[in-house]
Amino acid sequence: MVSHAGNIHYLTGFTGSAGVLLVNERQAVFFTDGRYTEQARQQVREARVVIARKAPLLAAAEWLQKHQKGRAVVGIEATHMAVAERDRLAKLLPKNMRIKPTPPMLEQMRMIKDAGEVELMRRAAVLGSGLFPVLKEKIRPGKTEIDVACELEYAARKAGADGMSFETIIAAGPRAALPHGRAGGEKIPRTGFVVCDFGVILAGYCSDMTRTVFVGHADDEARTFYGAVREAQQAALEAVRPGAPVSDIDSAARNILKKAGLGRFFTHSTGHGVGLEIHELPRIAGEQQETLQPGMVITIEPGAYVPRKWGVRIEDMVVVTDTGCEVLTPTTKEMICI
Ligand code: ZN
Ligand code: ZN
Repeated sequence: MVSHAGNIHYLTGFTGSAGVLLVNERQAVFFTDGRYTEQARQQVREARVVIARKAPLLAAAEWLQKHQKGRAVVGIEATHMAVAERDRLAKLLPKNMRIKPTPPMLEQMRMIKDAGEVELMRRAAVLGSGLFPVLKEKIRPGKTEIDVACELEYAARKAGADGMSFETIIAAGPRAALPHGRAGGEKIPRTGFVVCDFGVILAGYCSDMTRTVFVGHADDEARTFYGAVREAQQAALEAVRPGAPVSDIDSAARNILKKAGLGRFFTHSTGHGVGLEIHELPRIAGEQQETLQPGMVITIEPGAYVPRKWGVRIEDMVVVTDTGCEVLTPTTKEMICI
């Protein structure tokens, strides 16, 4: 029983928000409600569609009662199904059926993108990355972060994006020290870093890129700080190849920042998988066991954040190839002063 929207999207092509997919050894049946009658007809491939008059979960449970004979085990997506839904399902299922939590099997499959998916992601990344000139033009002291984010998002939609892949981060001055400082009403100061992290959705696939620009005249301290993050990001990129443990990619970046005395300011992991959803497997972090394989699309995004002072992050999206990686976000990483 697949209930997570991203996994349903992956398996059937359906992009709506309500649905449950049942797959057994013989068939696949997709349950959704009346709002999606037409959309399901257009989008769903490889599954029979049932438009339910009740909640799709209820309809799926009734279908199991009716069609699944004998003893059966119903696997549920343990990382996604709410406890209340699980309890409801347990009440609805007949006695000969048992619920079994499953590990994230589909997420494991989704880690490896096929050639068609990589091509779609390349297009999403080129569109997203191509918006950087808008930021260079629109970031000016006195404008609010939201002003800049609005201009960026307007340009993204005009350029053909289906939407943004997450809430745009424009974090200026001391707010650049907040790794997830989404654009707010604060004005861009006369001097300081501005972290810009943004992505688009194109044909269902997400892009993700961060560039950090400097407003005003950058002194040596600012340049050294930026240079250390850039060097860390480059080191991690160069470590990306099939068979490399993800923890090695993380330490490649972390070691450079440690050497620069900035280790304690790098407060998050080095990257994440990306695809139909903005955060997918694998996580590029020190405690993770995964090794890289061709077809994985991941981000490489070390950063350093000094509270109440400033922050820098540089992020590229890359696909792991047979020999190394291909960077999908071709925007310059030279330090840009505005
Ligand atoms: Zn990002
Ligand atoms: Zn990211």
